Amino acid sequence: MDIRFKSIKGMNDILPPESNIWINLEHLLREHFFMAGFREIRTPILEYFELFVRGIGEGTDIVEKEMYSFKDKDGEMITLRPEGTAPVVRAIIEHNFLKHDGICRFFYLGPMFRYERPQKGRLRQFHQFGAEVFGIQDGSIDGELIFLGVSLLNKLGVQERDFITKVNSLGCIECRKGFRESLVVFLNKSKDSFCDDCKRRILTNPLRVLDCKNDSCRALTQDAPCTVDYLCEGCSKHFDEVKRALKCFEIKYEIDSRLVRGLDYYSRTTFEIQITNNLLGSQNTVIAGGRYNSLFKDFVGEDYPAIGFAGGIERLLEVIDKKLIEPKEKLRVSFMSDLASFDVRDVLVVQKLREAGIEVEVDLATKSYKSKFKRADRNQSTFAIIKGEDEKKGGYYTVKDLRLSINSEDKQFRIKPEELCNEILRRKEIEWS
Ligand code: ATP
Ligand code: MG
Repeated sequence: MDIRFKSIKGMNDILPPESNIWINLEHLLREHFFMAGFREIRTPILEYFELFVRGIGEGTDIVEKEMYSFKDKDGEMITLRPEGTAPVVRAIIEHNFLKHDGICRFFYLGPMFRYERPQKGRLRQFHQFGAEVFGIQDGSIDGELIFLGVSLLNKLGVQERDFITKVNSLGCIECRKGFRESLVVFLNKSKDSFCDDCKRRILTNPLRVLDCKNDSCRALTQDAPCTVDYLCEGCSKHFDEVKRALKCFEIKYEIDSRLVRGLDYYSRTTFEIQITNNLLGSQNTVIAGGRYNSLFKDFVGEDYPAIGFAGGIERLLEVIDKKLIEPKEKLRVSFMSDLASFDVRDVLVVQKLREAGIEVEVDLATKSYKSKFKRADRNQSTFAIIKGEDEKKGGYYTVKDLRLSINSEDKQFRIKPEELCNEILRRKEIEWS
């Protein structure tokens, strides 16, 4: 066949049987969040461009170069969502969700879009799950949220030795002033050796130099000042609470002073869960999160406690034990007939089988019975139920147990329609030797 159309670069089809794994993983994720008291929020794929400029920040890679934005027919600038937090914050404010005790726990799941260079672990349409907690300032929730991420990896069979939880505190805007000054002095000492992006960042947003993926820039910032050494009393106390919570939840972690976010509305805790067993190469972060109280200032004029994380489903699928989410094999049967022989009583029988948990493919269209059997074989059907001319006249079905060889006496039998379902269920249990 002539292939005229292909999917867009960096945007993958998710095909069976892989799609079964996705269904089960999504189910497990939803259950994981639900059981911790989180509820699902589903926001539109498209939002106004401005939401992300405000909600992610102008100086970020996402807003600077990764967004899919275009004008719609009314001339409105809109964007395919590159992440989930800004839409969730918009939605809870728009629908006044903070009115009761002001505490909300939400999760989301779905496709995100970023115009990046496609490579291992980096797609243009990828999928994220994420959790957000609003209304709790106490550092215990930061610990609880990190536990939610860590326990998810445990549940998915990722071994303790194969990942590391990294935590840092950025402090508040006040603490960061002192930190930033020392950082700039430090960076300027070797400013000519940094990559061009970092040379620019030293002037515009020095914190982001610490986040550079370039090995030589990373080496140059090895001994850079650490944010935790610049925390004010309040932020220091908060970070102590976070550490105490991590101890209570028995989470092994490292403090990593490189975990920074180059945006003013990020404050205090940032964290990442990274895979250390090389399965993901350099794109090894599966879950990343942090506190963003000041984001609310741009939305409602004042700060509000907020913390969340996001994780990449494609990266997660590379590292988890897929056996744990493989679909349980259902019994499949092929119901073979043709329009001259098939009638409404057969429809009822088919429905009864399906309600009993048996997958039934009705094959009326394939011309010859020989071809119908070939299809059944490809589909890995266990039984073939045949309703041809003879069966119609005789008021019975012919059933073939496709697991058995042609010579076996038990391979084929006739049965009345009302007995079919029970007989299939009974036979299913028999393990022929
Ligand atoms: P990175 O430093 O890898 O670019 P990021 O800071 O852009 O990550 P976040 O915006 O924090 O990533 O997204 C959270 C998670 O979503 C990442 O840790 C990763 O698992 C996943 N993710 C982000 N971008 C992509 C992408 N382009 N393709 C696949 N997964 C992605
Ligand atoms: Mg990125």
